[in-house]
Amino acid sequence: MKTIVAKFGGSSLASAAQFRKVGAILAADPARRFVVASAPGKRDSGDTKVTDLLYRCYDAAAAGEDFAPVLDRIRARFSDIARELGVAFDLEGELAAVEGQLRAGPRRDYMASRGEYLNSKLLAAWLGWPFLDAADCVRFTPEGAFDAETTQDLLSRALAGLDRAVIPGFYGADATGAIHTFSRGGSDVSGSLAARAAGADLYENWTDVSGVLFTDPRIVRNARPIQYITYRELRELSYMGASVLHEDAVFPVRRAGIPINIRNTNRPQDPGTLIVAALPEGTETVPVTGVAGRKGFAAVLVEKSLMNSEIGFAARLLNIFAQNGVPFEHCPTGIDTMSVVVSEAAFAPHREEILAALREQLKPDRVQLEEDLALIAVVGHGMVANKGIAARILGAVTAAGVNIRMIDQGSSELNIILGIDAADYETAVRGIYTEFYGE
Ligand code: ADP
Ligand code: ASP
Ligand code: MG
Repeated sequence: MKTIVAKFGGSSLASAAQFRKVGAILAADPARRFVVASAPGKRDSGDTKVTDLLYRCYDAAAAGEDFAPVLDRIRARFSDIARELGVAFDLEGELAAVEGQLRAGPRRDYMASRGEYLNSKLLAAWLGWPFLDAADCVRFTPEGAFDAETTQDLLSRALAGLDRAVIPGFYGADATGAIHTFSRGGSDVSGSLAARAAGADLYENWTDVSGVLFTDPRIVRNARPIQYITYRELRELSYMGASVLHEDAVFPVRRAGIPINIRNTNRPQDPGTLIVAALPEGTETVPVTGVAGRKGFAAVLVEKSLMNSEIGFAARLLNIFAQNGVPFEHCPTGIDTMSVVVSEAAFAPHREEILAALREQLKPDRVQLEEDLALIAVVGHGMVANKGIAARILGAVTAAGVNIRMIDQGSSELNIILGIDAADYETAVRGIYTEFYGE
């Protein structure tokens, strides 16, 4: 029989009404044998995610403040769902354990993980399915680094013994049982790990949009859904800020060749986006697959005549950043210029040392720092090779009145990166969308 791993995100499990939609989706296809669940998310735009409440509760406890009011809000989220669904669930017993931990010496990752833990227990009880605790089969090192090999081993053995299961996303544990989490949005990674460990035919990722959209729907309201996208394209988009799927969720299933299907829990009739290694034969190729971006970058431009004949110049330049522990994002070069684009958060604490070292060690003609930049990645197969498309992108951004400060054509022929002022970010994205898909 086919096996599908279905991950449901926070908004898909935010209330009893959402649980019922999830129940109907599972009942519609018995191949959906393994469910990975998130903590309850927002019920509407003014709501707070349970994970955020848990972090707040931890902060209060760690500061020696009264955490009871926040814990009560968390209690209410779960008890509302349990009551409306009529599930017998020992919420008080579970929360007593959480409270005991908070009093004994709060641990941040443990607290954060309880949203997924409790929601999965609740879902399992309601469905009448077994609960498989991620603490027993998703392994981290004591330092909090994810251990892929041990996880694959533990998780595949656990799933092989089960017909069905609900598994909490977002966390795992080290060999001593101490809980560690992935970064925010990490239930997507857990779902991908479960799909690989189950040898699934498909990894379904159920969320609140009908697939990966051409761009962030908060910038372009009716951005069109993408029907097919390759793992590589999606990795570029999610790394650059398309937050619909965690950037690390692609690796486990990509290695195993398992397609990912992004689906909408609120519109299960929509086909969503299929993420695959290569587009199926005959798929209509689109000029640009998608656009994503992020703010918070700085660019350091170094100019020196005859730079390119100075052997080892680029290596020495990048080494100055490396020695300060600052990774670089992009590095567009000209004949006598080289720009190093870095995240402002990583760069700011080392700004003065790096600028001084560049001047001293490289003796450049000029060093120029540009801050408050946004990067936009325009992603699509073969786009870079097609000069006409690159020209349309640049023309659209310029016509929108945005000054392009940097252009980097990825060597993968998969993306074009534009650097612009952060304040121009939304305008530039809308300009590109309109150029290819109209208003
Ligand atoms: P979940 O809780 O289901 O994991 P997320 O909030 O993590 O859901 O991800 C879905 C959200 O990602 C969407 O509601 C949307 O606001 C945002 N998003 C950002 N960029 C994109 C994009 N290119 N396509 C679709 N959604 C996007
Ligand atoms: N609940 C976690 C978060 O809010 C993980 C997730 O939803 O994927 O980040
Ligand atoms: Mg998410």
